[in-house]
Parts: sequence; structure tokens; C-alpha cells
Amino acid sequence: MTPYPALFLGHGSPMNAIEPNRFHLEWRALGKALPRPKAILCVSAHWESVGIKVGGSAAPETIHDFGGFPQALFDVVYAAPGAPWLAERTAQLLAASGATLDPDRGLDHGSWGVLTALYPDADVPVVQLSLDRARAPQDHYAIAKALRPLRDEGIMILASGDIVHNLRAIDFRNPAPVDWGLRFNDQVKDLISQGQHQALIDYMDLGPDAALSINSAEHYLPLLYTLGVSDPGESLRFVTDEVFAAISMTGLVFGG
Ligand code: ZN
Repeated sequence: MTPYPALFLGHGSPMNAIEPNRFHLEWRALGKALPRPKAILCVSAHWESVGIKVGGSAAPETIHDFGGFPQALFDVVYAAPGAPWLAERTAQLLAASGATLDPDRGLDHGSWGVLTALYPDADVPVVQLSLDRARAPQDHYAIAKALRPLRDEGIMILASGDIVHNLRAIDFRNPAPVDWGLRFNDQVKDLISQGQHQALIDYMDLGPDAALSINSAEHYLPLLYTLGVSDPGESLRFVTDEVFAAISMTGLVFGG
């Protein structure tokens, strides 16, 4: 079986979930173009934990984990079913890392913020995997390696974050991209294209642009999951490829 494509999406503002803007429309086109997955395993920037957690709910609730947005965003219910069988399988693949099931966890906006566009009918089961913040970047990459078999089982591995994410540096009146963010985004894209995963794991050594672009790592770390489940020499394309203020919307698709 051809491995199911592996994705990283730069989710940006939660408003992208409900505004039919260029990002939303490109995600929607992507969802239509990709083969239908059996289920989705989503690694979101917005679920940080101590210890690896896997969402085991059969009917995950929609979590509105943000403030200061219009009521319409709080009204979103993304009613995709869970997939307890995929949660079990994921925990089994990560047993050596001590992963445990969380039967109550819902879907945060890192997942539904893009899934409302990818699969607006909410008819593909979704399971979330947490980011264990007690772990080093190298460990996140190793965890992803252990998840690679899922791609042969028709599962979409969808990591959701932002390569550049510095809310403190955003001037909301000015969407023009910051120069250090543009440079870092290009540097990361080049390293991805060249398969230089170790340099991307050791992002703290990539210089001052990296330090400004990754002022807290939760939006960058999901990228290491997509890299970890990719195969050497696999086809690669970038989507929604732009920097908006101090946030990168750049996403990528391996194998699709
Ligand atoms: Zn976010």
C-alpha cells in the first residue's frame, strides 16, 4: 500500500477556521485532492502535556481554547467522531515511551481550525496526540519515527503548528511579514527540501532568526513529527506558503 501522505499545516489565526480566506480555501482544495484517509492522527501545538497522551474519546468535544474572538468562533462545533481503535494503536506504537490514553480529551483549535476546511463534513475520525513538553526535540522526532507504520495503514498524520510563531512581535495593524520571520521560514524550507532533519531538530543552533521565530517551541515542534514520519527522498510540496506578520502559514505535504 502506498503510504498515506503526511502533512504539516501552519494554522495561524483561529479565524481561518471560519473565514473563507485564501488559507481556508487552499486547505479545502487539499482535502478534496488527497485520498480519503481511514482516520486522522493530529499532533497539535495546542495540546501540551507531561507524559505522552492520546485522545481516546469516541466523540471528542470541540474545545474553544482561545479568547478575544467573535462569538461565531465559539459557536463552532466540529463533530467528527473519535477513533478509539486508532488511539489504542497509537498508544501501542508508543508503549516504550509510556504513552497513555486520555478518554476525556476533545479537539482543540489546532486540529479543528484546519479540519473545518479539510473535511467540512466532519466525517473522518480524528484522534489527537499531545506534545510532551518534558521531552527534548530529538525525542519528538523519535516518537514520530515510531508512528511511521500508521501511514501504511491509511492514516493521515497531520501536524498543526506554525514554523514562525511569535505573538509578542505581532503588530495587528500591520500584516506585513517581519524580515527575520521571512528569512527563517526560507531557511527551514530549504533544510526540509534538503532532508536536513538533524539541523531542524537542533533548531536552537540555527541563530538569531530562529530564536525570534520560535519564542516558545510548541508551534514548531509539530513539524518534527511530519519530518519523522517522512521517508528519504519522498515527494514534497509546500502549501499556504507565506508569512503573515510574525506567523508562518507555510504547510507541507510529503507523498501527496
Ligand atoms: Zn496556534
